[in-house]
Amino acid sequence: MKKTKLAIIGSGPAGYTAAIYAARALLQPLVFTGLESGGQLMYTTQLENFPGFPEGVLGPKFMMDLRTQANNFGAEIIDNQVIAVDFSQQPFKLWTKLPENLSLADYKKLNKEEVLKLQTKIKQNPADVEAESVIIATGARAITLGVPGERKFMGKGVSVCAVCDAAFFRDREVFVIGGGDSAMEDAMALTKFAKTVTIIHRRAEFRASKIMQDRVLSNPKIKVLWNSNLKEILGDKMVEKIKVEVEGEVKEFKAEGVFMAIGHQPATSLVVDQLLLSPKGYLITNNSASKQGLDLASKNLDDHQVVVYPSMTSVEGVFAAGDVIDFHYSQAIVAAGTGAKAALDAEKWLNQ
Ligand code: NAP
Repeated sequence: MKKTKLAIIGSGPAGYTAAIYAARALLQPLVFTGLESGGQLMYTTQLENFPGFPEGVLGPKFMMDLRTQANNFGAEIIDNQVIAVDFSQQPFKLWTKLPENLSLADYKKLNKEEVLKLQTKIKQNPADVEAESVIIATGARAITLGVPGERKFMGKGVSVCAVCDAAFFRDREVFVIGGGDSAMEDAMALTKFAKTVTIIHRRAEFRASKIMQDRVLSNPKIKVLWNSNLKEILGDKMVEKIKVEVEGEVKEFKAEGVFMAIGHQPATSLVVDQLLLSPKGYLITNNSASKQGLDLASKNLDDHQVVVYPSMTSVEGVFAAGDVIDFHYSQAIVAAGTGAKAALDAEKWLNQ
């Protein structure tokens, strides 16, 4: 069994920034990258809004640099997922090994209930890691619509990541679902390869930032179906057509690619039964607006009381950072900032 002062779960901007800060505080943190090291920015092309990069920086390069930086200061980075945790007593326990009869591919396919069952079973084994403190920085995942055909054609014309898959859609007719920045970014990425790009948006205006909207709306390769909802994805082996309700009328379109860009869901299945979550499933920390509201309401906290560990979750010694606590901004710079805060809080808490 490995023992550590601090385990960091997750390897997006929050996890790696926490690792850099914690390593510089000589905590020798263990970072568990999860199944997809580097988080969502691994699927982004150009990161243009992170301060310090006037020409922008490629998402994967940025993440690899953060990883190297954390490593250089003494963080131990483990390319593995944490499967179960026990935060009921200190030191906290973490399990990282899958049962021998379960492959990684099968593990990825488990639904929420199956994951919870597996966690209960795995906790009967001795833990793999003991940690005095933990930072949860597990991020968020793409949401899908649940329309007929979506699951069947996932990876066969349906994608949740245009930046990863755009190149497979050279000269194809593709659709992007959503009206936020992700949808704009996906549509722009797809124009480099696809023959036509059509955005399907359920309202008559986008929610995306003005600059992204302008880029999309001035691109002659992109069309928009306003007030429209995807109803069904059809095909034989690959996506061939889609049914869309446009202004109340169901129409069929030839479609060779469908990209879901309707937002993200926090990755909290690991801790769902152990830490306080918001109604949307995000982790609550002392600094969360809703937590402060709850505390104020229950008179645990008055306006002048200083929150000593703003990034601490409902369990003392367990901190959280990044998109898993942030439904509002979901930005790399914000995630990195909260990662730094969590590491500083963990260091202070460990010292005390
Ligand atoms: P988002 O801002 O939450 O937008 C989701 C979009 O999907 C909205 O337009 C929403 O429609 C639509 N939608 C949600 N559920 C739907 C459903 N069931 N059926 C049809 N449409 C549905 O998510 P996001 O675009 O992933 O962005 C998340 C955060 O990351 C934002 O803060 C964004 O600014 C940031 N981001 C930034 C960049 C960048 O700066 N380069 C790139 C990507 C993301 P409604 O508008 O009607 O609600």
